Amino acid sequence: MQNSLFIQKKRVLVTGGAGFIGSLLCARLLDAGHTVICLDNFFTGTRENLEPFLDNRNFELIRHDITQPIFLEVDRVFNLACPASPIHYQYNPIKTLKTSILGTMHMLGLAKRVKARILHASTSEVYGDPHVHPQTEDYWGNVNPIGIRSCYDEGKRAAETLMMDYMREQRVDSKIVRIFNTYGPNMRADDGRVVSNFIVQALTGQDITIYGEGRQTRSFCYVDDLVDVLLLMMEKDNFCGPVNIGNPVEFTILELAEKILGMTGSKSKLVFKPLPQDDPTQRRPDISLARKELGWEPKIKLDAGLEKTIPYFDNWLVHNTKDTKS
Ligand code: NAD
Ligand code: UDP
Repeated sequence: MQNSLFIQKKRVLVTGGAGFIGSLLCARLLDAGHTVICLDNFFTGTRENLEPFLDNRNFELIRHDITQPIFLEVDRVFNLACPASPIHYQYNPIKTLKTSILGTMHMLGLAKRVKARILHASTSEVYGDPHVHPQTEDYWGNVNPIGIRSCYDEGKRAAETLMMDYMREQRVDSKIVRIFNTYGPNMRADDGRVVSNFIVQALTGQDITIYGEGRQTRSFCYVDDLVDVLLLMMEKDNFCGPVNIGNPVEFTILELAEKILGMTGSKSKLVFKPLPQDDPTQRRPDISLARKELGWEPKIKLDAGLEKTIPYFDNWLVHNTKDTKS
């Protein structure tokens, strides 16, 4: 399918390309015959994620931080650089804001200069702790501007503003996708997000850490479905978004924990920890717009996605244990 998405070979820049989603996007772009430049500062990304194609002649890796300008000649920019896990984006909140705001401005400047099309990875976090459920793109959100999640939420909101203003004022061909919780291989084992935490805890016999009572909800999208729609959105003419992309099937965090315990056959115990500040109580995308404009909806159900993700972490843990012993 991916080969038919592009009429001709393109030079594609993927910022954050060494991360979870970025590395799988790079792989798909290379498979489709494009030239890929991956730009990453390796804050949360890893070389390990890029190993399958490090020696591909169509692949180039640049260690660079998007908070600094860079001059490259490309046709397409996927702007994914930004830590996505709460523990990582809260580690250095000012840097997170700089990445979203200065970084996006630099990528927009680059896109303007070379007349590239640019797609920005925004987030469901722009809706904050939403009062509208499921979330539609015309909902403006309920975000705390001064809390511990604000560096990410407000940074992403400001980045959306930049995307729209560069489009209106400078005619940059820009697109916004709002990504909802996504999981799959290439996530870090120490990423801190719920799917990776629960799988690693279950596989290693550690307690499963439920924050709050576990009644908060999320909707989990398998990464292959997400990469499909990123590619579709990039090549869709006359549609800038913002568009919600994610899986509209909603689970409580407790249901997720029980599912992972069942699938791994783990004897880990559930333990309840304090709910982090401003943790959204519910989240589910309304994907009507993506269905209408892109003809897309996710195909991979949570059980099927977990069946692919659990062996990834199992394998990762085996190799990690070997590495630390040798
Ligand atoms: P990730 O942390 O695995 O990847 C982010 C990548 O960006 C990493 O490789 C990191 O090293 C790099 N990076 C961070 N700051 C940088 C900087 N200043 N300069 C250059 N590189 C930098 O996260 P992910 O899950 O792959 O997310 C990718 C994008 O999608 C992010 O922008 C994130 O906000 C967005 N998103 C992801 C999800 C999700 O569920 N995975 C949900 C909503 C939005
Ligand atoms: N969560 C949890 N235990 C964990 C990690 C996360 O209960 O070990 C909860 C977290 O409080 C949130 C949900 O799972 O309600 C999703 O968290 P994640 O960090 O994956 O993403 P986000 O909060 O950004 O949706």
